[in-house]
Amino acid sequence: MSDTDRSDVIARARLFAETELAPRAAEFDRDEFLPQDVIKKMAEQGFLGASIPTAWGGLGLDPLEYGDVTEAIGKACASTRALLTVHTSIVAGTLLDLASKRLKGKYLAALARGEKIGCFALSEEGAGSDAASVATSYIRKGDSFVLNGRKKWISFADIADLFLVLASDNGVPSAFIVERDMPGVRTWPMSGFLGNRATHIAEVELDDVEVPAENLIAGIGAGFGFVVNTALLHGRYSIAWAGVALAQAALEEMCSYATRREQFGVKIGTQQLVQKMVADTVTNVAAARELCRSAGRSLAQRHADATTETIIAKYFSSTIAQRATSDAVQVLGGNGCWSGYPAERLFREAKILEIIEGTSQLQQILIADVGYKKFSRKA
Ligand SMILES: Cc1cc2nc3c(=O)[nH]c(=O)nc-3n(C[C@H](O)[C@H](O)[C@H](O)COP(=O)(O)OP(=O)(O)OC[C@H]3O[C@@H](n4cnc5c(N)ncnc54)[C@H](O)[C@@H]3O)c2cc1C
Repeated sequence: MSDTDRSDVIARARLFAETELAPRAAEFDRDEFLPQDVIKKMAEQGFLGASIPTAWGGLGLDPLEYGDVTEAIGKACASTRALLTVHTSIVAGTLLDLASKRLKGKYLAALARGEKIGCFALSEEGAGSDAASVATSYIRKGDSFVLNGRKKWISFADIADLFLVLASDNGVPSAFIVERDMPGVRTWPMSGFLGNRATHIAEVELDDVEVPAENLIAGIGAGFGFVVNTALLHGRYSIAWAGVALAQAALEEMCSYATRREQFGVKIGTQQLVQKMVADTVTNVAAARELCRSAGRSLAQRHADATTETIIAKYFSSTIAQRATSDAVQVLGGNGCWSGYPAERLFREAKILEIIEGTSQLQQILIADVGYKKFSRKA
């Protein structure tokens, strides 16, 4: 794809977000439902294969271009952006990095074109941050593996065709692609979430599901070290941009309101205490975007620091998104607390980013570890 084609994709994503998503995002959130026509249009535009190479039917965007598309979509609708995170980055990205040629051939083009929707089934009732403790089991049976267990909080599981599942055989973690049509797969929709309400979250029941051996990703025992770490790297990069998107949206809300609303005979934006919130948000958004870009450049170059930079970007970006959206609610006052304005939805969506793809505390642990290794003076 030429440079012009790539910038066309980003321009198309911005236009699509403004015309198709922004006007309907509140409705998707209220109805807790992302309609099929939106997913179909995302597929038609090629966005569901944004970062997949053109050889597999994707758009072949590099990490920075993927980031721009994610920011544009995420600014308009967090639930639609979540489809990019889960389907495109986590599932397709992990298959691209780790699956056998045969497994790629089986699923990747269909994922890139959006003919099949993928989801990432890691969490369980008893396994959240401690993902390695999954109870979902697998055993070898001839040319297949038999999976049993129940996954929880799985975004898009209620509409997905493919599930990237982490299971364990007496502490040996492995990852598989499970198809919805395989006997023994059932999903149970969940509702009532703070944010990401239109992401068709569901529990996934696996009852003696027989999965062909070729659907094992990266070999027996590679489930945690390779597959989950790769999936989380892709997911965290996407979430870092999601934080920029929400913070930028919050910034635009607060600036627009502060320059219109009058109290005490003056625009509230002329008050220094309001200006502080705006100034901090402008600064934080700029810093978060640069951290994301730096991580994106390192990912593109497969630089040794790419994982650490991505974790830092995810942590910072989700933290400042929470702050920016809270300040947007504050600047809008009563209107900030009312669904007639987007600020309250942005605020709810931002909190989710501090939980998913590893909580902020888990990112802090990883970042502190890097700090000790890099910055401790030798005795
Ligand atoms: C909207 C939404 C969508 C989701 N989508 C998916 C999905 O598609 N696929 C999927 O597999 N999962 C998904 N999840 C689940 C998500 O990944 C988990 O909620 C997350 O990993 C945290 O796990 P937990 O909820 O069990 O919290 P816990 O692990 O129980 O953590 C609770 C609290 O304890 C803290 N904590 C835990 N351990 C430590 C520690 N060692 N040190 C310090 N603090 C600690 C955490 O930071 C947190 O504050 C989703 C969740 C939500 C809310």
